[in-house]
Amino acid sequence: MLIRWDELGSSGADVADGRIVTVSGYLVAVPGQKRAVRFLLTQEPGCCPGCAPRDPRGTIEIEAHAPVPLCVGAVRLSGVWHVRGAAEGHARYRLADARPVDPPGWAGITRRRALTAGPLMCLAAPVAPDGARAAMEATTTVDLHSHAGGIASMVRMRSGSAFGPVSVPMRKGGMAAVCLAVVSDSPTHRLIDGKIRPYRDPDPNELYAYGQLAFGRLHDMARTQGLAIVTDAEGLRAAAAGKPSVIIAAEGADFLEGQPDRVEEAYKRWSLRHLQLTHYRVNEFGDIQTEPPVHGGLTDTGAEVIRRCNRLGIVVDVAHGTFDLVKRAVAVTTKPLVLSHTSLATRPSRFSRLIVPEHGRLVAQTGGVIGVWPPVSVFPTMDALAAGMARMVDAVGVDHVGLGSDMLGLVGPSTFPDYDRLPALAEALLGAGFSAIDTGKILGGNYVRVFEACMA
Ligand SMILES: [Zn+2]
Ligand SMILES: [Zn+2]
Repeated sequence: MLIRWDELGSSGADVADGRIVTVSGYLVAVPGQKRAVRFLLTQEPGCCPGCAPRDPRGTIEIEAHAPVPLCVGAVRLSGVWHVRGAAEGHARYRLADARPVDPPGWAGITRRRALTAGPLMCLAAPVAPDGARAAMEATTTVDLHSHAGGIASMVRMRSGSAFGPVSVPMRKGGMAAVCLAVVSDSPTHRLIDGKIRPYRDPDPNELYAYGQLAFGRLHDMARTQGLAIVTDAEGLRAAAAGKPSVIIAAEGADFLEGQPDRVEEAYKRWSLRHLQLTHYRVNEFGDIQTEPPVHGGLTDTGAEVIRRCNRLGIVVDVAHGTFDLVKRAVAVTTKPLVLSHTSLATRPSRFSRLIVPEHGRLVAQTGGVIGVWPPVSVFPTMDALAAGMARMVDAVGVDHVGLGSDMLGLVGPSTFPDYDRLPALAEALLGAGFSAIDTGKILGGNYVRVFEACMA
């Protein structure tokens, strides 16, 4: 039988006393020893030699049948299960006559849904790449905001030219699901002096028609590249590294043209499940960070759109919205909010897309998640991006931070230009001191929680 980590400390583990069981975990390295007969097994990869969780339920004492190499990452062992009284400072569980079930080097802990093992005694880098893969495999990895394939390009949308690869790099990098956003105000903004600005008002029906074209093309891309479309919580749970999936999203609700009734139409017709209220045009729903405020934040129509999204099961994204917009959105929403792509400002600045800690904390208060984005101008290296995520975690908590790549949507180069970079980001997060479980939360787990709450 299999013993799961979340069974330790419960009768599920106790009733197996004396039986042959299988356990999965990480060998704790013993300083100066390459192989050992007696050692500890932990749920989390250790951060340095001899490191083990304080909580006895986070470790299993192993007595191996023969010396086992100690630097092999995740392992699965089979042996005789012994449950002992909880003596102070000793592991409560022991696996005797233990033998590896898989060959050394196997990193096969997949989809661990177990409880955290408790704080480690120390935190230090570096961590083996095996740890990065295990952290990714333990969660459903999600990019909160992306235009991968080139769906932000109006020319590509209108010309019908082929999209760039999305599904292949997702498979390669282990990215399970991506919020792919059409850009619904594209016809009315352009680059002016290095900044994206609106330059004209849309014609009646223009942005609605462009939205229909863009959603249709996004569905074409999903079909031709074999991307599954997530429409409910179960769909997102099923999204795995081997089956890349997309959540249909819109950046800017401009295609609604101020009509909240059209939210339901997009939900049904295009499987829209993630809606960002505003973008680069001050639309009918509220003010934006990059233009002077007009509405004093979220409008009444914007509040009605949020209520409809809450009812239908559409994630509301307040990226690009002003602090005042977010304040009212937090008061209106009954579901967690997302702010999909930004980072923490070192100081408040007019017309900046970055946010101050209070702005982020408002979103976190709803149980929401904030995606940290990767422009090279802000985070020149993967380690800098991980450090930026760590700063956001310090501001809002580890349960409220994610990745929002804005792939092929950034004005300048990106530190995270494609999904094959995901393992490198996981490694950088582990290197920044995050546990495997917290790394998994940032790389997708937190968004999955928000998405599930929005679908309920
Ligand atoms: Zn954006
Ligand atoms: Zn974008």
